[in-house]
Order: sequence, then C-alpha cells, then structure tokens
Amino acid sequence: MIQATTVRDCVAQARARLEQAGVDSPALSAEILTAHVLGMRRLDILVHADKAVAAPDLARIQECVERRAAGEPVAYLLGEKEFFGYDFYVDRFTLVPRPETELLIEAVQSIFPRDAAFQFADLGTGSGCIAVTLALEFPGAQGCALDLSEGALAVAQKNAERHGVASRVEMRHADFGSDFAPEASLDLIVSNPPYVSEDEYAEVSVEVADFEPKTALVPAEGEGRSDGLECVRRLAPHVARLLRPGGWFLMEYGWKQGPAVAEILGAVSEFQTVKICKDLAGLDRYVVAQKRV
Ligand code: GLN
Repeated sequence: MIQATTVRDCVAQARARLEQAGVDSPALSAEILTAHVLGMRRLDILVHADKAVAAPDLARIQECVERRAAGEPVAYLLGEKEFFGYDFYVDRFTLVPRPETELLIEAVQSIFPRDAAFQFADLGTGSGCIAVTLALEFPGAQGCALDLSEGALAVAQKNAERHGVASRVEMRHADFGSDFAPEASLDLIVSNPPYVSEDEYAEVSVEVADFEPKTALVPAEGEGRSDGLECVRRLAPHVARLLRPGGWFLMEYGWKQGPAVAEILGAVSEFQTVKICKDLAGLDRYVVAQKRV
C-alpha cells in the first residue's frame, strides 16, 4: 500500500514494492510509472520531488505498480515503446518491440539510399514498428503490412496514423504464407515472424508468457510441437516468388537458428545470396537474402 504525500515518497515506496517483487530495474520503473501517471517527464520527478500527490493519482500509481509487480511489461502500462527513436503505441495485442529488431532497419538502410522509391511488404507486422519506421526513414517507400491478428492490425494502423505515414503503409488482414499476392513484384520483404519453439517458450519470463501474445512468438502451424522454424520454411519459397529479380528479403530469427535458416533459404534456388547476420551481442539474429537478378 503506497501512502505517499510527496512525489519523492511515492517514488521511494513504488521502488520498495518493485524491489520486493523482484522485477528488473525497480528504481527506473518506479520513476517511469510515477512520472507517467503524473503526466511528467522522468527528470521532472526531481524538480517536483516535494509536490504533494493527489489521492486519485496515488491510486493510479499504486495500480500501475501492482501490475508491474505482477510482471506486466512497463511498455503495456505506458501504452508506449520507443523503437528506432520513434514512439509506438502498444497494447497486449502485439509484442513489445525489441531493440534487436532495429537491426533490420539498419540493414535496409545499408541496402537502399534514403531517397530510394521502393515497394516493400512487412509480413507479420504486429505493432507496425518495422513498416512504419521504414516509411519514416524512406520518404519514397510504399509498403504493405500484413498480420493475421485484427487486434495487431488496429495497433499498426494507429501507429501509421500517429506518424503520418498511413497513406504509404497499407494494412492487410492476411496470412503471409498463402493469401498474400501483391499487385506488383516487391523490392523488399521484411519479417519478424513467430520463431520461438515450444521448448524455448516454456522457459520465457513471466513478462513474456503471461502478457505478450503467444501467437506472435510461437509458430501456430505444423504438426505437433513447434520447433520454431515453421514460418521460416513456409515463408522462404513464397517470398522468393513475390520479390522482383534482385529484390531483398530480411528476416529476424532466434539466436540458435542461424544454421537452419541458412539451410532453408539456401535451398530456395531463386536466392542468389543468403547472409546470416549477428546482433550486437554477437548472436545470429537476422538474415539478408537477395533474389537472383
Ligand atoms: N525476440 C523475441 C523474444 O525473444 C521473439 C520474437 C519473435 O518470435 N518474432 O521474445
């Protein structure tokens, strides 16, 4: 029970509660959640440390702290997560964007110049963070973002509108492996598909298991327990057909999947090069494949 009178007390008690609950970064979370409810920036907490906290705000802070103590990710409590320097709306219909996924954007930047006009598709867009960021970073790009989850598409649409790129990113409710047939062949296909195996999923944190949509993490198709690679197997030949000659396919995958991904994409004859790339931790994380010219 938080019984604060000032902002300072409030942060201290929130921190103590989160420490007791054993969540990551209790001090930072206490500050972020308090600032969020009070409509302040985090640094303003210091400036307004002696200010009294009104009872309704106290109750809202307490609710947020209890939800965080139960494992709910901070991003869902704020309804926001930063990705590639842009703020994205998020809720429980989508994964919280991960920093490692920003590498896909950087990889696209190393392929296309900023003023390039290209057509892309984002398969399994979730919050729309990849598609919207591409539209923002490449003002001449035009894309299509697919998801099977209507809830996720609504989030992605909200983010496209929020960032003023809704006219250049079309949201489509479709299954990326089969019913997606774009009008023209594509210059670029990006995807962060579900790639977590059932065995790995059994080990994920409470934050992930209890709050994030499992359908965004573990492939749903295939017989029996997922080995995490079903989407990759299904995507590889389909994507190769949708790309124009010389077009690019960039996909994120799990750190143990590098050799398997190289084998699956390597077996698709349309691809001329398949490059397994590492994240900042030195782990295999994404692939860059180019279709034959
Ligand atoms: N990187 C995510 C995780 O470890 C998985 C994302 C995905 O399956 N696309 O939770």
